Amino acid sequence: MLDPDEAKRIVLEHTQLKAPLSIDLEESLGFVLAEDVQATCSVPAFDNSAMDGYAMRTGDLVYASEVAPVSLKMIDFIAAGDRSLQPLEQGECFQIATGAELPCGADTIVMKEQARAEGDRIWFMKAPQKSQHVRYKGEDIQEGQIVLSRGEKIGPSQITLLAAFGYSRVLVQPPLNVVVITTGSELVDVDQPLEPGKIRDVNSYMLAALAREEQCNAHRVGIIKDDPRLIYEVLNSHIQVDLILITGGVSMGERDFVKDALIEIGAEEIFWKVRIKPGKPFYFAIRRRGENEKTLIFGLPGNPAAGYIIFEEYARPSIRKAMGRRRLENPFITAELDFDITEQSDRRQFIRAFLRKDQNQFHVAPLPVQGSHSLSSLAGANALVVVPENEEILPKGTSVKVRPLNPTGAMEL
Ligand code: AMP
Ligand code: MG
Repeated sequence: MLDPDEAKRIVLEHTQLKAPLSIDLEESLGFVLAEDVQATCSVPAFDNSAMDGYAMRTGDLVYASEVAPVSLKMIDFIAAGDRSLQPLEQGECFQIATGAELPCGADTIVMKEQARAEGDRIWFMKAPQKSQHVRYKGEDIQEGQIVLSRGEKIGPSQITLLAAFGYSRVLVQPPLNVVVITTGSELVDVDQPLEPGKIRDVNSYMLAALAREEQCNAHRVGIIKDDPRLIYEVLNSHIQVDLILITGGVSMGERDFVKDALIEIGAEEIFWKVRIKPGKPFYFAIRRRGENEKTLIFGLPGNPAAGYIIFEEYARPSIRKAMGRRRLENPFITAELDFDITEQSDRRQFIRAFLRKDQNQFHVAPLPVQGSHSLSSLAGANALVVVPENEEILPKGTSVKVRPLNPTGAMEL
């Protein structure tokens, strides 16, 4: 059985970045930038007014006061988007709109509500500060500056900056094409009645959702019976994708045909069985496509919680790496145990748990049903407690290593 960290190292070693893709700015939300983004102009691009008001020389109003107002001659109005080519002379002012370019010679702005207009004479009751309400060219961002960097996930703020610098198309890491296959003659689809002895296929929906959460194009093939021919055919017809998640049939059972079918389609076994609980039968294979490309195949055990944990620990980091993400996994935190953990194992355990923060201290409560078949522990978990291999009983109050999960459903604030 392979060491869990070694298994992760191997999976990531086989994971390659896809070639970048140029897409429309509007389509880019959630993707990862494949290149650094430079400011193509300064922000602001020119000196401009932050207020609707008047632009003048500070020197003209030094003696203005309530008791001795000073007037200037208003020579023109500069609207946003317009510019005045006429320079400002002594004793003059321009009326100016928010965002309009500061006229040559002006060095300050007085708000409209602090002046009084009498025809083309504008009266001022106060000496302005130099540069007040002026936004100077480049005070926010300098032309040529790197404003976003490769590996950054594109959210609304990144889209704002891309728009500001005229990038109508963006170079991103393309989504992975993922195929989800579930095997098992006991499985029925979600819209079918549950006959005796049958169970609903939850894995294909769960795994497709997990992959889609990482912006993958996930195609859910659905249920394939435990029949070597059918398993071979479905794998063979989907081998051109980036990643295959196939569940069931990777254990030691009489009817576990997935490993053989993979070898038959030309895949290479990289490892089988990892020292983790749940998820021990995890099978990892690759299928080379041409010179440089390969399909990664994650053979997951059929039990949903096991599949979930293998996805979290191995498939998610691999997908993130292939899509250029900087953070491959949520970093571990330390939390205090609310209850004893008595289950001991020679494998590394991933215990579904509820994490909460109380007065700057994280607390974590393991959920009651921990079997690899358990669905309740998936619904209630927002974290995984990691119990090292061959660990003693962990009493309540022990500091443990916890992997927070992405917030979902009920856990979303
Ligand atoms: P296997 O890995 O094929 O030995 O399956 C292990 C257990 O997981 C069995 O109890 C299966 O019935 C169950 N199982 C397998 N596939 C699924 C699935 N797609 N959805 C829910 N449970 C499954
Ligand atoms: Mg099975």
